[in-house]
Amino acid sequence: DSVAKSFLGTPGSDYFNKLCPGYFLIGSCENGHRFSKEIYCGREWCPTCGAKWSEAHQRKFSRWLPKVQQMRQLGYFVIEWPLASRFPLRSRAALEDAGKMVKQVLSGEWEISLRRQRGERISRQRDEDIRAWWFPAGLRRWHFFGDLVKELGEGMKSLAWVDKASESSPGGQGDRYNPHVNVLVPYGFITRGKFRRIKRALRAALQEPDLIVHYGYTREPARMVHALKYVTRATFLDGMWAPDVAASIYNFHNSQVWGRWDGEPAWSLDDLEGKPELADLPDSLAVESLESGICPRCGKPIDWAGPFPIKNLEGMEKQDLGAGYCELEQVRAPPGMKAVMMLRAAGYHGPVEIQTEIREDRGERRWKAGSGSAPSAAGQDRHGELPPRLATYQGP
Ligand SMILES: [Zn+2]
Ligand SMILES: [Zn+2]
Repeated sequence: DSVAKSFLGTPGSDYFNKLCPGYFLIGSCENGHRFSKEIYCGREWCPTCGAKWSEAHQRKFSRWLPKVQQMRQLGYFVIEWPLASRFPLRSRAALEDAGKMVKQVLSGEWEISLRRQRGERISRQRDEDIRAWWFPAGLRRWHFFGDLVKELGEGMKSLAWVDKASESSPGGQGDRYNPHVNVLVPYGFITRGKFRRIKRALRAALQEPDLIVHYGYTREPARMVHALKYVTRATFLDGMWAPDVAASIYNFHNSQVWGRWDGEPAWSLDDLEGKPELADLPDSLAVESLESGICPRCGKPIDWAGPFPIKNLEGMEKQDLGAGYCELEQVRAPPGMKAVMMLRAAGYHGPVEIQTEIREDRGERRWKAGSGSAPSAAGQDRHGELPPRLATYQGP
């Protein structure tokens, strides 16, 4: 079975060989709305998380969906390195640096700082103008594997690709390490001249004269949803494909978002009525809200308790929201009782140590169990979204 599958002779290692999901959290707002959240490791080669349209995949999708829904057009860059230059990208630090640099170039920051370095004075207006020429908002995420020729020609053929004849890097087949950055921007058709300038800047900034850049776009919501699913999916499906990279990207922040995303939605999921893309979507609004720690029912902050062993979730009265979230029965608890009630609700009666933190000055009550860092870590596209250490929970 997949859980027992040992990886690189490291049985017992939490990182490579772990039941997923092993635990869940219970969250509640001050109005007594209650939710459960399964804790997923988020590692791409996890048999659970790496699966197509897994809960981990749906969470990544849901976090970005409200932003993509603000796009009237969606532009999709794929930036890949030639075979000869992939070796330096086998470390977490190098991937992080390259990812940040891509964002700096595409946001216009790189051009502004370059001009400043050359002694040019950049007024506020000029700064804005430069950024406006580039992409003031965007989302980016690494894929580690994939044959780009196949991906763009088959998986993403529904987008209109600029520069069709453009070359692709060879040697991206199957399990060959082929790191590439995916970027989504609210933009449509790009002229040849603009595309050339973007490519030049990326090549200079990343110091890779043979960098390969693809760009496609669409204004169809169904195709945007498809592209978003595609970009947020896992590609590092087996740690054995590149064990050194797998070990290096522990806790890697795979994605980055920039710009303002407070605009009105340009389209809604209702526009997908009858389209296959709509069929398997989670309750994305609820999931996105819960991912950022906000009650989807009333908008109040959610306090998360746990982790609790996953088997205790089975017996609970709940309604599935998708992506590993459920809504639980509403409970009104007197202050201070919440923690105890949640533990009971989770079917947990063993020895539990709850660290209570009372902030009377602000009338704010926070409490946490164990070294609970899960709620904050859970909001990120992070490799190794690990549950908090379970030292305080010895199991029932
Ligand atoms: Zn997992
Ligand atoms: Zn609420």
